[in-house]
Amino acid sequence: MIKAAFICSPDLWQQGHGAGHPLKPERLQRTHELLAAYGAFDSPESTLVQSRQATPEELGLFHTEEYIEVVRSLSQGERKFNPRRYNFGPGDNPVFPGMYETEALKVGSTLVAAELVSSGQVDVAFSFSGGLHHAGPAFASGFCVFNDAAVAIHWLLPKGLRVAYVDVDAHHGDGVQNAFYETDQVLTISLHETGLYLFPGTGFVEEMGKGAGRGYAVNLPFAPYTDDETYLWALEEIVPPLVRRFRPDIVVSQLGVDTHYRDPLTHLCLTTSGYVAAVTAIKELAPRWLALGGGGYDVDVVARSWTLAYGVMSGQEFPDDLPAVYAEKYGQGSLRDHEKPPISAELRERARRYAEDGVAALKRALDI
Ligand SMILES: [Zn+2]
Repeated sequence: MIKAAFICSPDLWQQGHGAGHPLKPERLQRTHELLAAYGAFDSPESTLVQSRQATPEELGLFHTEEYIEVVRSLSQGERKFNPRRYNFGPGDNPVFPGMYETEALKVGSTLVAAELVSSGQVDVAFSFSGGLHHAGPAFASGFCVFNDAAVAIHWLLPKGLRVAYVDVDAHHGDGVQNAFYETDQVLTISLHETGLYLFPGTGFVEEMGKGAGRGYAVNLPFAPYTDDETYLWALEEIVPPLVRRFRPDIVVSQLGVDTHYRDPLTHLCLTTSGYVAAVTAIKELAPRWLALGGGGYDVDVVARSWTLAYGVMSGQEFPDDLPAVYAEKYGQGSLRDHEKPPISAELRERARRYAEDGVAALKRALDI
């Protein structure tokens, strides 16, 4: 039996980026509520594990000492630092009370997951509040204050573990790619909507790593309106062959669900069935799996998709009818999508050709 852990604490959703910000704390609360309503943690093979806050030393595995102090200071309302120098301000990265504690708790959750997986206590751990893949060593970016993925990978590497990072968020995983751009010790693969139309504007096929890291950064961009079929075809062509060749001890995956057709911020058109198939493909890549959350801005879609993802991780098949206790609060519905997004044949075909070109270019360049 697979042993799975879900890393959680109600403190993860007490503070947020503020009214009107897309990264709503309810995303996390609703996901936890839905999983609990399904009894997802009732089996001895599936445990709910408490989050803990990352220490400044742990944050320092990736972030600069100065930046950690800046986040702490801004979070307490002090005015010692100019927030704009670190990319904080109104918009994507507002300063909010309790920011340091909340964001360090997300990194700590990912480290709890990394500890459980690397020690072999579980086969997979899901730090669903993590996957904050845009943050840099000394700046916030794209709703991300601390980069838990980069911190966790830096924590895993000295244990002699080979790490492959696979990022299926609709946005390019730029922060993680940049963190390991010049090393062959970490393979980073990001599948995302092309930077031509979406933040952060990077993640083109040509970005392949530098120096010793050449060939160890891989980007597979998709055009708007890419559907399940095209996405999964491209994923299967690129991800399993590269990860198998790299032979990782552990796969770290960022499972952002803003690829969904109802997501308000992006233009990809996956359904829950495409998302589940992608998560299942990642599951087969390595015996040890550190799974992280990420983007996803339709709260209902996020709760259903991450519930399905945890079902894949822990080998549980949840009934399609939403549990009564959850449906009473949030409305009746089904766990899985039962309709497909309306996409014209022309747009569907254009997205397919864009993916085919990307796959062909990567195969040539990486000798797949
Ligand atoms: Zn995203």
